[in-house]
This record gives sequence, structure tokens and C-alpha cells, in this order.
Amino acid sequence: MALIVKKFGGSSVKDTERLLNVANLVTEDYAKGNDVVVVVSAQGDTTDHLIEKAKEISEAPSKREMDMLLSAGEQISIALLAMAIEKLGFPAVSLLGWQAGFKTNASYTSARIKTVEAERITSELSKHNIVIVAGFQGINKFDDITTLGRGGSDTSAVAIAAALKADLCQIYTDVDGVYTADPRKVKNAVKMDEIEYSEMLELATLGAQVLNNRSVEMAQKYGVELEVLSSLERKPGTIVKEKVKMEKMLVRGVACDKNVCRFSIIGLEDVPGIAFRVFNSLAKSKINVDIILQSVGRDGTKDISFTVPEDQQQDAENALESLKDVLKYQSLIKDNKVSKVSIVGTGMESHHGVAAKMFEALYTANINIQMISTSEIRVSVLIDEKDTDAAANAIHDAFIK
Ligand code: ASP
Ligand code: MG
Repeated sequence: MALIVKKFGGSSVKDTERLLNVANLVTEDYAKGNDVVVVVSAQGDTTDHLIEKAKEISEAPSKREMDMLLSAGEQISIALLAMAIEKLGFPAVSLLGWQAGFKTNASYTSARIKTVEAERITSELSKHNIVIVAGFQGINKFDDITTLGRGGSDTSAVAIAAALKADLCQIYTDVDGVYTADPRKVKNAVKMDEIEYSEMLELATLGAQVLNNRSVEMAQKYGVELEVLSSLERKPGTIVKEKVKMEKMLVRGVACDKNVCRFSIIGLEDVPGIAFRVFNSLAKSKINVDIILQSVGRDGTKDISFTVPEDQQQDAENALESLKDVLKYQSLIKDNKVSKVSIVGTGMESHHGVAAKMFEALYTANINIQMISTSEIRVSVLIDEKDTDAAANAIHDAFIK
């Protein structure tokens, strides 16, 4: 007998038919004598629709009320799933985040889990109930509902698996595992049997949409092995773990992110303290800066370019405009028709020529590189957004056969 945590995303519970399918998957494991805890997301596009409703009322609704609103999506799915399971003749109980013991910090709409006080879950399990928990939500020290940020249900599932020391944590989705690239865009993409936490974390952060990056971070921290698998096809998925058995691949996967905007500040004075002023002001506006490039000074001036997530471009632009008088730069260029394409693999640490091979693939496909950034296990390039799919295919074929 094992303790199994199963998480189902929005597409897996989007309508009655899918909910009944999930009820079947869950009760099959329960009927074999296992303890089962289920974490669910809101049905289909519910969260997006709730956000639209809020925007109809106010441009900038308070974050506390956004959390109150968004947490309702998951409340609907847990109740419906519990009913579906009861209909099949099995005992089930649904719990909201706070009932399940999720304590978070106070940051509304992007709260972090502090602890999961799992007594209620454990007591329901000891009464032989299938426990169904609302993902993506918790409660803060003011007894207010909080949410964990978009895609946060994955993190809820990992947190429960860690708190209960579960034997298995399965993340069900509408694809059958983690692929070497997005199979809808890259024709030779293949499913992986296993991937290491560090590689999965990079891929998730760099735009692979299959797992939320915070959930991978937490899984690594607490040593929770994950299986990513399809809720529609019954076959093994991809295991995410510390060390994979197979030979280290130079490049494990290719990820693309179109949610990128590039800024170039042209004609800055070439003196100490300029970069500090620029990035300090962006930091104060809570903007996540990614790739940074500074030109060599010439004739007393220099240029600084950097990228930010597209949804922070307005805040970044405001911050930079307000510096115009202090920094006396000549012009500010903004381009959001760019995307970031990255390769990830722990095998890179001990090999040379990886970046060169990536650049060769781009050159052969006649794709121009605007910016480059690297880490020990990653190389990213910024390119024209229209070249994204061509670049991903060319790079994928160069490294992964
Ligand atoms: N329902 C939330 C969202 O759409 C959380 C999740 O699905 O993980 O972001
Ligand atoms: Mg873009």
C-alpha cells in the first residue's frame, strides 16, 4: 500500500466527461488499497475568465480581492470531483487550501507556501477518504485567502507530497510527458523517459509549459520524484528526479519563450554608476531583467540593452523614461517582436563547442542572433520572434536525433 498524490490540471478536469475520467483514475488506485490525495486546478479556462471579469470592473483590482475571486475556480472543481467519486461509490472529501493546512506568506496573487500543516489531510486519510485538495491557494497570517501565481497547482501537489512523504507524486496533464521541445512546433521532438531536476527547472523557467518552475524547485529541495503523464492515455510518462540513469546528454531539450521584450538605451555617458542607476531603478519597480548586454564605450558614450518579460514592458518603459533627465541618454528603443530560444543540458558542463554548434545551426537556417547569454547548463539566444519555430527546429535537429 502506498500514499499517492495525483494532480490534475485544468484541461484534465475541463468538463463533466473529463471529471468522470479523473474519478476513474483516482478510484482505481484507491481500490488497490492505496491512500490517495488529489490536487486539482480550476476547470479549463476558468481562471482566465475570472481575470477577464475582474478587468471589466476595474483596471487595477486589489490583489486581495483577486485572490478571493481566483480561488473560486478551484473550489468548483474539488466539489465536482468529490461528487463524481462518490457517484462511483467511493468515499471522498474536498478541502480548500486553508482546510488542507496551506499557510503562505502575505503576498497576494503570488504567495509562497510556508508550511503545509497536514493534520486534516492525514485524519481524512485515516478515515479512508479520498482527499481532494484545491490547488493554487492557501491562507496568510491575516486569515485571508492567497493564491500562488499562475500554474501554482503543481506546487501545491509537490508541497503535499513533501509534507506527507508520499511514495508517488503524479502530475497529470494533456501531453504524455516532457518532450525535448514543444512537439506542436518541433517536428522531431521526442518524449523523455527521465529528466534531472536541474534540467527541468531550466526548461520550465525558459518557456517549456509542462511544469511550473517553482514546483520543480520545491521537488528538488525536498527530493520529491515527479511523474508527468497524460490523463487521457494510460501509459508511463516522464520521471523528474535528481540523477538520471541514462548517459548524460549534451543537450536535453530546447525551450522557446516569446514573452520577451528587448530594450536598448542608446548613447549613455561612459562613466561609472550608469548601469547601477538603470538596473537599480528597474529593480525598485520589481522588474525581472534577463539578458543584459553593454557595448564597449566609444567617443565617451555606450549603449545598454536588456530583456524583460513582455507583461512588464510598460513598467520598464516608465522607469526608464523617468530616468531620461538624470541619465541624458540619446534614445530608448523597445522591441517586443523578439523571442528567446534556449538549449539545456547538464552534459554541457564538461563539453566545449556546444554554443558554437548552436550558432552554426542558426547560421545555416539564416537566423540572426541579437543577444546571447549562457550558464553552466544553458545557452540562450534572442532572435526575431518570427524565426522562433525555424530556430527551434534547426537547433533541435543539430543536437537531438
Ligand atoms: N488555476 C490556476 C491557473 O490557471 C492554477 C493552476 O492551474 O495551476 O493558473
Ligand atoms: Mg515577444
